[in-house]
Amino acid sequence: MTIQRTLSIIKPDATSRNIIGKIIDRFESNGLKVVAGKLIHMDQDKAAGFYAEHDGKPFFANLVEYMTSAPVFVQVLEGENAILKNRDLMGATNPSEAESGTIRADFAETIDANAVHGSDSFDSAKREIDYFFSEKEILTFPAKNLLTFFKNHQLINIKLEEVFLNLFHNRGFYRHL
Ligand code: ADP
Ligand code: MG
Repeated sequence: MTIQRTLSIIKPDATSRNIIGKIIDRFESNGLKVVAGKLIHMDQDKAAGFYAEHDGKPFFANLVEYMTSAPVFVQVLEGENAILKNRDLMGATNPSEAESGTIRADFAETIDANAVHGSDSFDSAKREIDYFFSEKEILTFPAKNLLTFFKNHQLINIKLEEVFLNLFHNRGFYRHL
């Protein structure tokens, strides 16, 4: 079991069309947890630095202009094989080539305005998360506190307690216990 973190960006076309929630639902419904998130409006330098690997390509100037055209929602997703899972949920870069049921097939129209960004490797995930978030901004969900809450409110009995703990173990939250 490999629990990873990855960077996801909901891009200007999607934030402008009020579908942040619909896109986050795809991640949450597929076992990825939002552990950090904020709405930001990038300036030229911030967007160009983020996409430095594409500097010099014919679409670079347009890409920077587009990414600075409206606020974007940046988030850190955590879960089992999060990096690849996020890429699978996103679909191909060009929405017309993206598999049906993927975010880009369902919510994007063009190759440049394609709804979402996702880190493509372990190294890029690390660089990209650090580019937007400090370690303090990435939060955890301690199972122990939740369990105490359920107990105090008599929402849980002893047998359910075992199920609850197993659930958190299986989802990789065991290290916060
Ligand atoms: P991905 O976002 O799927 O990782 P890339 O890293 O290759 O794709 O490209 C970064 C972003 O640059 C794309 O998501 C898209 O917004 C834009 N882009 C890539 N290729 C093109 C292209 N041929 N024409 C216009 N924009 C492009
Ligand atoms: Mg990429």
